Amino acid sequence: MILQQELISLNEIFIQNQSYGNEHNPDIFSYFDKGSYVCLTAPHSTKTFVAKHLKGSDLYTGAITKYVAQHYNYSCIVRNKYMPETALISDFILQNRLENHFFLDIHGMKNGNGFDLAVGTGYFKPELYEKQLQFIDNLALKYVINNDNYTGKIGLTGRLEKATRKANVLQLEWSKNYRDIFNSFDNVNNVTVPFIAELSSNIENEIC
Ligand SMILES: [Zn+2]
Repeated sequence: MILQQELISLNEIFIQNQSYGNEHNPDIFSYFDKGSYVCLTAPHSTKTFVAKHLKGSDLYTGAITKYVAQHYNYSCIVRNKYMPETALISDFILQNRLENHFFLDIHGMKNGNGFDLAVGTGYFKPELYEKQLQFIDNLALKYVINNDNYTGKIGLTGRLEKATRKANVLQLEWSKNYRDIFNSFDNVNNVTVPFIAELSSNIENEIC
């Protein structure tokens, strides 16, 4: 049973300051270590500076990521604040030697793409992620959500793959209908949170 109020309070840290986040936090990113192989990431939980421009936040991804991490015991990394310069989560991962995880990188996309979950495999062919994509297809059937694969080469997925040459990061883009903790709470409660938790568990158990 997910408490909407808990999601709302987790969300507050990210939406403060018009989604510029917590400017008083000295750290751009925070890593919460639960000792898991799976690590959930939310690099766009606040506004970010990407490719010389300001990008709006992927609303609610910070709260949903933290909620799943806390309740199901997975490590996570969230962005705490906007910085008016390039500050990549892939660099944070490499500098802190955290690359030996399987990353599920949680993002948001607009409604109306014809699907509600897009899965990015970065530079690598989907075949390298055959097991994980099968888990996702199974969960998409179970939770009755349309999913599609695409190959986003920028962002954490492509950057980490390039740096480590390992197939250990997938990008999950959720439509607003499956992120909005206020207007679509039932979807977040019945689909998004259990989907991410179960996918994490599938991947954790596959390896360990
Ligand atoms: Zn994003």
